[in-house]
Amino acid sequence: MKAQVFRGVNQLSYEDIPVPEIGADEVLVQVQVVGLCQSDIKKIRYPLYDPPRIFGHETAGTIAAIGADVTDWQVGQRVVVLHHIPCMYCGYCLNENYSMCDVYKNITTTAGFTPSGGGFAEYVRVPGHIVRHGGLITIPDDVSFEQASFVEPTNCCLKAVKKAEIAPGQTVLITGAGPIGLMFIMLVKYFGARAIATDLIPSRIEKALSVGAEAAFDARDSDLPAKIQALTQGMGVDVALLAVPSEKAFFQALDCTRKGGKILFFAEFPDEVEIPINPNILYRREIDLIGSYSSSYKLQALSADIVFNRRINVDALISDRYPLQELAAAVEQAVHPTPETFKILIYP
Ligand SMILES: [Zn+2]
Ligand SMILES: [Zn+2]
Repeated sequence: MKAQVFRGVNQLSYEDIPVPEIGADEVLVQVQVVGLCQSDIKKIRYPLYDPPRIFGHETAGTIAAIGADVTDWQVGQRVVVLHHIPCMYCGYCLNENYSMCDVYKNITTTAGFTPSGGGFAEYVRVPGHIVRHGGLITIPDDVSFEQASFVEPTNCCLKAVKKAEIAPGQTVLITGAGPIGLMFIMLVKYFGARAIATDLIPSRIEKALSVGAEAAFDARDSDLPAKIQALTQGMGVDVALLAVPSEKAFFQALDCTRKGGKILFFAEFPDEVEIPINPNILYRREIDLIGSYSSSYKLQALSADIVFNRRINVDALISDRYPLQELAAAVEQAVHPTPETFKILIYP
């Protein structure tokens, strides 16, 4: 089968490799569509993981083979593949910090080499632990593979919305209106809150408004805090979601967040960035800083409901489709977006 193998920083190699062999409790899925995620791009462009690996984790496909002991699934079924599932017994899992669980981090779907998701290949092997514990979700007939590939990123964004305890009637600032920021806007609106977005690219500011932001501004606007005060009865936003890894965006969010509000770090910053902050700002204004990484096991069913029942319009996020062979070009476009670049989907 064909696969895009990570052979080193910025080295993607389109290769013929063996189709993964499955064990008795495993499932083989033929990948139909896989979303290109910001985290894939980071793993390809920075020395974070030893090669060789096959990344890609926003996978939707068709069951191509099942192991002898698998009774719940059949060849031909259309499924979303979740690339990791927690153990549900460790101290992290019992505290609902599922993404910190060792089992969650170490057992993952693979197309070959060190398991790393494996969606950038024609076939992916789903380990027994993932098959047994809800890691395959049936795609309804009226939902496309493209739409289904959004279940994973929706879960990641939903987890952040839940961690920040966004409630109906609140106002939320979303810094960055790329694919993730736009999804945040839709989710915040779905949960009854108002979204205000910022970005540097005019077309993204427009797009933010078109998917439901109540207001959207250029992030360089020096009057931004005043404009946000005007929209929030002088208080500032209840929550700021940082969808760009920018120190400037953080301090802007701090200026725009109300006393007692929350700032959530969603985008992963480069490791060398350190943000100096006077702790009394947090103390006197009672600002909570929150981090949210990856998805939540507990939110899988709700994420699938949101995508499958069109509570948000994921079609509006899709801008480009690339064959697997051109993954490097897709990464290049995501790093240097045109005004019309939003979510990029990959077709093996
Ligand atoms: Zn992702
Ligand atoms: Zn665990």
